[in-house]
Order: sequence, then C-alpha cells, then structure tokens
Amino acid sequence: MAQLRFQALRQAVQHHAVSNENTDRGIDHFGKHVFSDFLMQQSLPQEGYRHMVEAIRKNTKISRPIADQIAVAMKDWALSVGATHYTHWFQPLTGGSAEKHNAFFEFGEGQRPIERFGGEQLIQQDPDASDFPTGGLRNTFEARGYTAWDPSSPAFVYDGTLCIPTVFVSYTGAALDYKTPLLKSLFVLDKAATNVCHFFDKNVKQVHATLGWEQEFFLVDSVLAQSRPDLVLAGRTLLGHLSAQGRPFDSHYFNSIPDRALSFLREVESIGMKLGIPIKTRHNELAPNQFEIAAIHQEANLAVDHNILVMQIMRRVAVKHNFRVLFHEKPFEGISGSSKHINWSISTNKNVNLLRPGKTPMGNLQFLTFFINTIRAIHQNEEWIRASYANDPNEYRLGQDGAPSTIVSIFIGSQLQNVLSELEKVTSGKLSPKEKTDLKLNVVGKIPEILVDNTDSNRTAPIAFTGNKFEIRSVGAAANCAAAVTVLNTIVADQLNAFRQEVDLLIEKKDMKKDDAIFNVIREYIKEFKPILYDGDGYDTLWEKEAKKRGLSNHKSTLDALKVTVNPRTITLLERNQVLSQTEIEARYTIELEDYGNRIEIESLVLADIARNHVVPTALQYLSVLIDNVKGLKEIYEEEYQKYAREQTKLIEKIALHVEKINEMIDSMATERKKALSIKIVVKKAEAFADEVKPFFEVIRYHCDKLEMMINDDLWPLVKYREILFLK
Ligand code: ADP
Ligand code: MG
Repeated sequence: MAQLRFQALRQAVQHHAVSNENTDRGIDHFGKHVFSDFLMQQSLPQEGYRHMVEAIRKNTKISRPIADQIAVAMKDWALSVGATHYTHWFQPLTGGSAEKHNAFFEFGEGQRPIERFGGEQLIQQDPDASDFPTGGLRNTFEARGYTAWDPSSPAFVYDGTLCIPTVFVSYTGAALDYKTPLLKSLFVLDKAATNVCHFFDKNVKQVHATLGWEQEFFLVDSVLAQSRPDLVLAGRTLLGHLSAQGRPFDSHYFNSIPDRALSFLREVESIGMKLGIPIKTRHNELAPNQFEIAAIHQEANLAVDHNILVMQIMRRVAVKHNFRVLFHEKPFEGISGSSKHINWSISTNKNVNLLRPGKTPMGNLQFLTFFINTIRAIHQNEEWIRASYANDPNEYRLGQDGAPSTIVSIFIGSQLQNVLSELEKVTSGKLSPKEKTDLKLNVVGKIPEILVDNTDSNRTAPIAFTGNKFEIRSVGAAANCAAAVTVLNTIVADQLNAFRQEVDLLIEKKDMKKDDAIFNVIREYIKEFKPILYDGDGYDTLWEKEAKKRGLSNHKSTLDALKVTVNPRTITLLERNQVLSQTEIEARYTIELEDYGNRIEIESLVLADIARNHVVPTALQYLSVLIDNVKGLKEIYEEEYQKYAREQTKLIEKIALHVEKINEMIDSMATERKKALSIKIVVKKAEAFADEVKPFFEVIRYHCDKLEMMINDDLWPLVKYREILFLK
C-alpha cells in the first residue's frame, strides 16, 4: 500500500509549472466574452433597449418581441466569439453553479441545419432538475423546476457555451436557488436606502449594494490529492497532522508565489478578464499552499455571479495544471482554514458610496446615518448573521487558527469610536443653534475622508468597518456569498425603513427640524448598540464571558446557529420585506439540515474505510515486523533478550492498544450512524449525526495520528501533511 504513496510522490515531483504562452495584457481583453450593456445597446433598436433598461430597473417583465430581438442579437454575438451551445446558468442550493447545455443547432425547413435561439429559449427553460435539493418544496408530481433569465447580470461565453444567468424556481414559483432572494433583497434595499437618501439629496434615484470578495483556497498536487480518499470524497483530510510542532511556515505569507501556483493563477486571471471579472489581487495566504485572489467590488448581484464563476474556472483550470483546488473551510487540522471575505457597501446611482465619509458636514451626516443604521441592523440581528454562514465545514474553522470568533462583533477603529462617543452626548429634543454648529464643525465635520486605523490587524473580528465598507470575514471559502449578502441587505433595508419612520415621526409630531430628528434617533441607536462593538482579541476567554454579559449569542454549533433562521422573528422580517416566504424559509432550513447530516454520514464512511482498510492493516504489518524482531532477539539472547527488546515491546503494546481502540470506535460509530440514518424527523436526524456520530471523528483521528508517528515511514500508506503542503 505504501507503494502507492511513493508512486504518487514521485509523480508529483515531475509536475512543473505549465508554461503560459499567453502574454496578452489582460486589460486589452477585458469583457471580451461578455454580452455587455454596450453591445446590447448597439444591437437593439433604441426603443427595445430602453424597454429593457426600464424592466431591469423596475424589476418587471421584458416583453416577448423585445426578448426575441435580444435573443437574436445575443446569439449572433455568441457565435462570433465561438459559441456553439447555450445554457441557463443558475445557482442551486447545493452550492456552485449548474447548467444544461443545448446546441444552437436545429433542423430548419427541408431538414436544412440552422442555428436558432429565440426569446423563448432566452427567457425560460425547464431543466430536468429533479436532483437538486428542494427541502420538500417540490413534490415529485410537480418535479420540474424552471429557470428564468436575470437580465441584470450579463450573459457570457465560457468554453464555447453562451451562459445566461438565471434564477431557479419551482413550478409554484418558490425560490430554489441563491439568486432569487438576493435579487429581492437588493430591490428592498434600493427602496429603503433611496428613501433615507432623500433626507440629504432629493435627486438620488436608486441605491445598490456593492460587493468585493476575497477568495481563499488551497492548491494541492492532483496525484497527491487523488491518493487520499478523504480529500477525494470529503474535500478535507480526516487524518494526519504536521509532525513539526509550532508554525514553521509563518513566513509563507510574505514569500513569492511558487511558480506552479503563479502559472495557474495567471491562466485563471486571463480567463476571468475576458469574462469581465476584475481580479485585482493575488497573494500567498497564511498557511502553506494557501492563496487568495480578490476582485474589485461590483454591483452585488454581478459580483456574486463572478465569484461563483471564478470558482468554476479555478476547478477546471486546476486540472490542466495538475492541481486540485480545495475550497473546503478547513482542509487540514491545526492549519489556518479558508474564508471568503465579503466587503459590502451601498452606492447611489451617481456612484456615491454611502459608507464613505463625505467632503461636507452634510455628506458626513449622510455617511454617519448609513454607518450607524448598518451597525444597528447587525446588532439586532447578530444571531441571524451568524446563521448566514453556519455549516458543517465552517464549524471546524471559526474560532481557531486565526479565523474569526463565533461571537458576532464589529470592529470600527478608534477614530469612529470617538465620533460615536461625541454623538452620544447630544442633548434630547431640539438642539440649540450653538450645539448644532458645534456638532457640525467639530464632530461631524471633522471626520476625515480617509479613515485609517492601524490597529485593525486583528483577524479574529468577524466584522470590521474598513474605512468605506463593512468586511465580513466569517463567511466560508466554499459558500455562495449571496447567503450572507441577502441577510445583510434585508436587515439593513428593514432598519432603514424603521429609521425613516422614526425620523419622520419626530419631524411631524415633535415639530423638529430634520437634522435635529436625525441626531436624536442616532443618539439612541448608539447607546443601544454598544454591545456589538469590540476591538479586542476574539479568542480571549474573558471576551466570551464579557459577550455573554452583553447579551450577545455565541453559537459554536452549526445546528444551534441554524435554528435562528426559522424563528418567528426571522420569518416575519423576511416576509415583511417579501424576500422569502415562510415555506421557502423552512425548505431552506431543511436543506441545510440535510446537508449537515449528509456530510457527516459521508465523512464517517470515509473515515471508517481509511482507518480500517489503510491504517489498521499497516499497523498490523508493522506489528509483525516488531514481533519478528523480538522473537529473533529471544532466539539470540534467550533469557536476556528483554534488555534489548524493551522499546520494541513497549511499541508493540502501544500499537496493539491503538488498533484495538480504532476497531472499537469504528464499530460504535457504525452503530450510531445506522441509528441516525433511520431517524425520519430531519432536525432529530441532524442532531443525531452531530451528537452521536461526529464525536467519533476526533477520537479515531487521535489514535490514527498516533500510529502515523509510530509506524515505519516506509510502510505508511497515506501521503502525509508535510508531503502535500509546502508546494515549491
Ligand atoms: P484590504 O486589502 O485592506 O482589505 P482593499 O481596499 O484592498 O482593502 O479592499 C478589499 C476589497 O474590498 C476589494 O475587493 C475591494 O474592491 C473591496 N471594496 C473596496 N471598496 C468597496 C466598496 N465600496 N464596496 C464593496 N467592496 C469594496
Ligand atoms: Mg480584506
């Protein structure tokens, strides 16, 4: 068995960087494979184009004749850049993207082959999608979901296929994907934020969320990854550890990117450029073989699509470069995991970032209004935010090895902290002219346009305000960022609506001036949301106690965190804003629970297989070697053999004990797994996997890892951490 390991290692050494003939300047090709707004405008009659823009803005249907015109233009363009097929491209709740390709090819009159694509094919498709999770939303008698065009994200050509971004809904119209609620949340945020903007600028017509993602991942040589059943089937290692104690790889972060990784990244960037994905940054991450790429922020819906697309591109390009890319949140124990930082802000139709301090006191009051409302929204919904990135893989990451804590808190830096403290002192009711002038000149007017805070090196803060945007760092690397962004959009929209009402009420009932009313409302918010602001170390045990005193939740377990998604408060909030209905919410919860249980089930099977079929036989093989050795010593030295066999005897006993434990645990785990599988109630089933099956992982791993340290390296069957990591 160990032969396989050495074979893989020999093969991996021969993998060199794939030479990149492509020396094009990416910028010359930016968006070349995107059916952009500009192309659309050029290829449509003016009336048609205007109709389309209106429909996107108002979230209404595009008429059939116009759709036909767009379809023809889209097809002609796609053929011109080499497409032969088209697909509706959507984001089911399994994660990733899904597609079913159709050729443009059809038989025309007299069986003449032609290329056809019309409005009908553009607008709606009926993919046979009965394999996607529905959480009970779609009974088999109405098994077909359908996809519907999302005209707010442009179509693109990737690998000879015209991809049309779509939503995915059930026959009854219930959302079966991430995009549908995201679009709805963007819509309500637009309405609510525009309304609040009108306090400051009546000309604002529209507000949109912006999103800049930072994607972390590991690159592992493909033959090495292939040689480990756990990496192949679970995307993470279930056994193994770094034999060297401490963190010998701290310097990786600053080192240059290894050639093989660089060559891979350049190809990903080049394809991304053509698809209009503005990848700006690439660097090594903290752990060996860990990297990050980040794109310049864009309108949130587009940025989400780009992130999903970039992950798809990476998986494919990796094959050519003899890599496997791991998006799992915690592929290696004891080594920092992978996240997807989500940088979120809101901008007006004039591209004014509402979370960037302005040049005037008025601009700054607008900034403070949105800044403070966002913090209040997060504070009031901290449990729901936590739930938005809760899943089994992220549970292994949060709170460890440099990842953010499971307690949601916001870091805002000392400059803004000081501003809030000043605002908290504003007197109740109408403000005196002197106080108002003072405030405007000395507090609001003094916020610098660029906020710097050097203390923000603390990666344990789950959310940080970083000058002109909020950055959520707890989202997992494999996640669809739409999940967290939808929650953020919805809670901020809801909060802004409440704010607008409160201020209006003070103006009408208390006869206050608009500014007075705004100051009065935000003062109360500041007093109230203090518990969520924290700038210390998120790992400090004192923080856990302190957070509890402050009334903040700390859901370490995924299942506890997820419960919040179906509590009456969450449901009311989502229904009030028409983002998701109760049925849809409950279906999503069911899907999360099923996913949680499935992962543990698969991992327990894989772990049992590796432990029993790889580790135990190897241990027994080594035991025989040791026993033969002792027997030999006995033959030579007779009674005195003990003197020479002490270490071997000890080792024999230890190994035998670990083997016994492993076998015992695997049997008990199998019993518990079967019990869990027989449970019909989905919550109970997930709980059984969490409480009865999962705890075995750690114990079995412990004994296997001990054996890894004891057994002759020549015999060990699995590629070790030090061999997988440390890419040259
Ligand atoms: P840092 O590297 O310190 O985290 P950057 O300024 O490089 O900060 O930004 C990181 C990410 O934040 C990038 O993806 C960037 O595009 C994004 N970002 C910057 N401004 C905004 C904004 N207004 N809205 C959303 N994301 C933003
Ligand atoms: Mg960042």
